[in-house]
Amino acid sequence: MDFARVELTDEDRAFQERARAFLADTVTEEMVRAERATGDGVIVELHRAMGVDGWLAAEASTAEDGGFTAVRRRIWDLERRRLGLPLERWGATLMILQAVRQYASPELLDEVLTRVFSGEVLFAMGYTEPGGGSDIATCKTRAVRDGDEWVINGQKMFTSGANVCQYVFLLTNTDPAGKRHRNLTMFLVPVETEGIEVHRLRTVDGDSTTITYYADVRIPDRYRLGDVDDGWTVLSGPLAAEHGATDPADVGLSDITTMSNFGMSMAISADLATAITARSGPDGRRDLDDDSVSYRLGRAYSRIEAALATPSLFGRVAIAQSMRDVAPELMDILGGQAVLPANSLGASAEPGDGPEYLFRWAPLLGIYGGTIDVFRNMIAQHILGLGRPTYVAPAK
Ligand SMILES: Cc1cc2nc3c(=O)[nH]c(=O)nc-3n(C[C@H](O)[C@H](O)[C@H](O)COP(=O)(O)OP(=O)(O)OC[C@H]3O[C@@H](n4cnc5c(N)ncnc54)[C@H](O)[C@@H]3O)c2cc1C
Repeated sequence: MDFARVELTDEDRAFQERARAFLADTVTEEMVRAERATGDGVIVELHRAMGVDGWLAAEASTAEDGGFTAVRRRIWDLERRRLGLPLERWGATLMILQAVRQYASPELLDEVLTRVFSGEVLFAMGYTEPGGGSDIATCKTRAVRDGDEWVINGQKMFTSGANVCQYVFLLTNTDPAGKRHRNLTMFLVPVETEGIEVHRLRTVDGDSTTITYYADVRIPDRYRLGDVDDGWTVLSGPLAAEHGATDPADVGLSDITTMSNFGMSMAISADLATAITARSGPDGRRDLDDDSVSYRLGRAYSRIEAALATPSLFGRVAIAQSMRDVAPELMDILGGQAVLPANSLGASAEPGDGPEYLFRWAPLLGIYGGTIDVFRNMIAQHILGLGRPTYVAPAK
C-alpha cells in the first residue's frame, strides 16, 4: 500500500478551484432535497449541467484520451461527495459504458456515446430476476430473434434507475436449452420502447429501485451487445467492476476496494456519535466518560479502520459486515435520541450522516451488487482455493 502524500501541482489546484466553483454555482440545497424525496440517485438538472460543462466526458475518459488524470478524478470525486451529491446512476452508467464501448455496433455507439457525455443518457443494470436471485445466469427473460429484430419477454427485479435512465443494459436468455453461461445475450434496450413497464419501489434507506416488465418488446438487432449467446463475456467487465474484483490503479489514490466511500460514511456516523456523547448533560456528566461507552466506540472505530484498510473482495465484505455491526452499536450508545435524523440532534451533520440512516442502509449494502454471503463463498472458492460449495444439508 502506498501512503505517500499526494502533492498537488498548480494545475491540479486550479482544477480543484474550477470544480468547486462549478459546483458552488450549480448545486442548490433545493436540488439535493428534491432528490432525497425521490431517492432516484441522480439530480437530472445537475447531471445535464455537468455534461454541458464537459465534466462527464472527462470523467468517462482516460487521461490518454483527454480525460481526467487519477489525481483529478479523485479531486472531482471528493468534491461531489463532500456535498453529498447522489452518484448512483452515473456510477452504474460508467461501469456499463466500458462494455458498450467495447461491444456496441458503430450505429449504437453513434446513438448513445455523445448523449452519455452530454448528460442526456444514463444506463440501468437489468440482471436480477424475481426467481433467479443471486445466480443471475439462471436468467429467464427471453429474447427471440425475428428477422432483424428481437422480441423480449420477461421480468426483472431491482433494476435501479429504470425510471430515470434512458437504456437498460439487459441480460436475456437466447437459448433456454443451451449450456449454462453460453446461452445469454446482452442488449442495450431503450426504456421508451413499447411493452416496457417500470414500477418504482422505495427502499428502507430512502433510495429507490424498480421492477420492470417486458411484454413483446421489439428492438432492432443494433441494440445487441456482442455475439448472440456470448452475453456472459460482455457482462464480465461491468460485473467485475461492481464486485470490486478489478485491480486498483497503482497510483496510491484509488479506493482499495469497491464501496470504500460507503465505509467513510460509517466513520462520519461514528464521529457524530462520539461528538454527541462528549457533550455534558444537565448534571455535568458526559456519556463518553462511561467506560462501556468509550470501549464500544473504540471497538467501532477499530472495526471501521480495519474494514477501510482491507483490499479487494475482502474489503467489500468487511465494509458491509462492519456497517451491519457498527450501526446498531452506535444506535445503542446514543439511546432513544439515535432514532432522530442527524440534523435534528443539534450536531452539524447532514441527515445521511447519522447512525439511524446507517442502520437503515446497512442491510442493503450487504445485498446490492451481490450479497456478502455470496462474496464470502467467492473468496473461499476463488481466492482461498477451498473448493466449490455443495449446499447439501449437514449430515445428521
Ligand atoms: C436496493 C437494491 C438495489 C439493487 N439494484 C440492482 C440493479 O440495479 N440491477 C440488478 O440487476 N440488481 C439489483 N439489485 C439486486 C441485487 O443484486 C440482488 O438483490 C442480490 O444479488 C441478491 O439476490 P436476491 O435478492 O434475489 O437474493 P437471493 O439470491 O434469493 O438470496 C437470498 C439469501 O440467500 C443467500 N444466498 C443466495 N445464494 C447464495 C450462495 N451461493 N451462497 C450463500 N448464500 C447465498 C443470500 O445471501 C441471501 O441471504 C438490487 C438490490 C437491492 C436491494
